[in-house]
Amino acid sequence: MTNTDIFEGGAKLPLVEDFYTIQGEGFHTGKPAYFIRLGGCDVGCAWCDAKYTWNSRIYPPTAIDVIVERAVACEAQSIVITGGEPLLYPLEPLTRKLKERGLEIFLETSGSHPFTGEFDWVCLSPKRKLAPLEDAYKRAHELKVIIQEESDLEWAEECAAKVGTECYLFLQPEWSVAEKIMPTLVEYAKRNPKWSISIQSHKYMRIP
Ligand code: SF4
Repeated sequence: MTNTDIFEGGAKLPLVEDFYTIQGEGFHTGKPAYFIRLGGCDVGCAWCDAKYTWNSRIYPPTAIDVIVERAVACEAQSIVITGGEPLLYPLEPLTRKLKERGLEIFLETSGSHPFTGEFDWVCLSPKRKLAPLEDAYKRAHELKVIIQEESDLEWAEECAAKVGTECYLFLQPEWSVAEKIMPTLVEYAKRNPKWSISIQSHKYMRIP
């Protein structure tokens, strides 16, 4: 699906979009952050709300210098690198340049491909269809499991057993069934208080 050669070892990346907004999910909910969304994903979640990102070939390889200059041109202190699945690409060059500009770097990943790059915060959102590599569990600061049906809670516990003791644990309802599944999540979190609930607050705020 991806042709890594055209990305020149990470000097260019298939940029879908970049924008300054408010982080809507997980531990950093509510904080302003600049999002860099990369194209390409081979996980194939049926409920994915970013299917438009899957085919990296429709997104032109964009020089990371251009991406970094746009990021530093706004007031953002934090950068979220997301996708698609950003770990399909070598991220060391981009994260190094962002770090040189004093920015905090957060990663959103399924953990299904090897890690490259340096991050201040890793949000691991594991997917059953293509499970995270073992290394991804060790790197996670935050585990965010999307729950579509009650049986996904077993998957959440399997993943929680693999992360470090300091990792924050979040259950997040899949958006299209959020109203229906929320009471189950609320009761589950009350019975198992190591979990917190994350909601996609940006969708309520009507922001990207
Ligand atoms: S891993 Fe993320 S981008 Fe890829 S299909 Fe699943 S939800 Fe969509």
